[in-house]
Amino acid sequence: MFEVQDLLIDHCKEQHKNLPYVCEHCERAVKYWSEFERHQLVHSGERPHVCPVCGKAFGQKSQLNFHMKIHAENPYYCEECKNSFKSVDEFDRQKPIHAKEKVVV
Ligand SMILES: [Zn+2]
Ligand SMILES: [Zn+2]
Ligand SMILES: [Zn+2]
Repeated sequence: MFEVQDLLIDHCKEQHKNLPYVCEHCERAVKYWSEFERHQLVHSGERPHVCPVCGKAFGQKSQLNFHMKIHAENPYYCEECKNSFKSVDEFDRQKPIHAKEKVVV
């Protein structure tokens, strides 16, 4: 699990440098204030167990542990589209989609 985390942190540093809003409850960093505000709700509700990777919240620790298997098996998480990928090849392949999106916006 820690290896997975390291991978993800490297990935985040490289791909998503602009994550200025850091949650003080779970240290999750997000890009937009609106996303940050929405994320804060998870800590006030009945789902205190928050996935450090994608920010999904769960009512029970066991649910979170089960969920973490997805990230363990698909360690390349894309913040842009919230998808997880098994290999860096798959991850790289979908990256240009986001580049295009940015040009349009
Ligand atoms: Zn948080
Ligand atoms: Zn997750
Ligand atoms: Zn993506």
